[in-house]
Amino acid sequence: MSIPEVKSAPAATANLPPARLWIGGEWTAAAGGRTFATENPATEETICEVASAGKEDVDRAVAAARGALDGDWGRKISARERGRLLWKIADLLEARIDEFALLETLDNGKPIFESRYVDVPAAIDALRYFAGWADKVTGETLPVSGPFVLAYTLREPIGVVAAITPWNFPLIQALWKIAPALACGNTVIHKPASYTPLTALKFGELASEAGLPPGVLNVLPGRGSEVGNALVDHPGIAKITFTGSTEVGKDIMRGAADTIKRVTLELGGKSPNIVFADADLDAAIKGAYTGIFYGKGEVCAAGSRLFVEETIHGELVERLVERTKKLAPGDPLDPRTRLGALVSGKQRETVLSYVEAGRQEGARVAWGGEAAAVGGKGYFMQPTILDAVHNDMKVAREEIFGPVLAVIPFKDVKDAVAQANANIYGLAAGVWTRDIGKAHQVAREVQAGTVWINQYNWYDSGAPFGGYKQSGFGRELGRQALEYYTESKTVFVGK
Ligand code: NDP
Repeated sequence: MSIPEVKSAPAATANLPPARLWIGGEWTAAAGGRTFATENPATEETICEVASAGKEDVDRAVAAARGALDGDWGRKISARERGRLLWKIADLLEARIDEFALLETLDNGKPIFESRYVDVPAAIDALRYFAGWADKVTGETLPVSGPFVLAYTLREPIGVVAAITPWNFPLIQALWKIAPALACGNTVIHKPASYTPLTALKFGELASEAGLPPGVLNVLPGRGSEVGNALVDHPGIAKITFTGSTEVGKDIMRGAADTIKRVTLELGGKSPNIVFADADLDAAIKGAYTGIFYGKGEVCAAGSRLFVEETIHGELVERLVERTKKLAPGDPLDPRTRLGALVSGKQRETVLSYVEAGRQEGARVAWGGEAAAVGGKGYFMQPTILDAVHNDMKVAREEIFGPVLAVIPFKDVKDAVAQANANIYGLAAGVWTRDIGKAHQVAREVQAGTVWINQYNWYDSGAPFGGYKQSGFGRELGRQALEYYTESKTVFVGK
């Protein structure tokens, strides 16, 4: 893997979107004329102004998306052509990978290494994966008995889909929704997070350059409480696909009830990463470290509760701390940086307040725990390991969404699984052991949508991802995602 050439790049050299919304295949001012500033969390400087959409803009976007469904996109463009278009969009994104990676890093604070080699490539991969499915979404013939000669199902697009996405993996989260929605023939209104709207806006424009017809993808940045609510309430929208906090997910479910919108929710997590004494400890320590510190810990599936078999607890914590000491926050534009800036000052305050809550409840700060700065600026934070944590402490119960690990000892398999499951979330889990039987037993018994055995944080466009319990419902990626972007219609043919 080669390291990108990016050394430092001021915002002025980035290819920024105008302070406009992307509706109906063109840049258009927000009806209310409002804008908001988006900030580089590594420098605390404004990158640019972004248009702030309101209810009227939602109405315009719905009309454009509906128009596309009733027009060429819905009636003339074949499924195979949709697939070809998605593939062309992927090619164009790949040709502009450095530009998108730079924007993502400036807006989010994540290391350029991640944006360039993980985030944008994963977004491209999702486009290509679902491009392949576009002409393979089929119904089935049904073995029914009755007064007819044939019965079959059709899988049809749901209609206008609203995709509401968070700030931690802006382009990936967007494409995990937009790619399957378009592959299945829907049209999309995307509301990106206010902290990180830039790649979404540029992607809307890029998709159009690749040939996506006007109105098929519309991008509306703006306040969640305003644009988000307007999307959830709008009778012209058939489905909400949301990734974000569990609290907002609950609001969306309640709001969607009025118009019986289809909803899929990918929400928070407090995922257990379980290390048994018989594990390959070098691998387990690396997995524990990347499980929490990759992506600054602003990762819904972060392995934020590290359960360690009590016989190796002391040794493991010591070795993990030694490794973590070498991880210093750095300039996100430096290709060697592996820990960037948290997304905002507010998010860092929240994360630091959790560390304080942990201290007060008796956790021991084994490493880190403090704010940091790079070049005197930025919302950086030391990677933090809290030891002597109990599973019922606030830092073990609640999603922190930052580089803070809670280490909790356990006795045996039964105890590990019981503690892992004693949480409202169920997004992911990890298990480290050389005993294959034990690994599969834990994989079966742990309540989580994804289980990693002897690895952590691995995703693939072909593998479904989503939650149990209050981590949400529905699945992104894989063949299963297609079910959430289509309706099933049963057709009976009479004699
Ligand atoms: P939110 O859940 O508030 O934001 C996610 C998205 O929802 C954003 O686009 C946001 O818009 C939008 N939104 C906010 N309010 C509404 C609403 N009432 N109706 C519809 N859409 C809405 O996450 P936060 O940014 O506030 O982060 C808070 C916490 O949530 C984090 O600390 C973390 O614990 C968790 N989180 C989990 C994520 C995950 O991947 N599962 C991702 C992000 C956060 P806007 O940005 O304009 O507010």
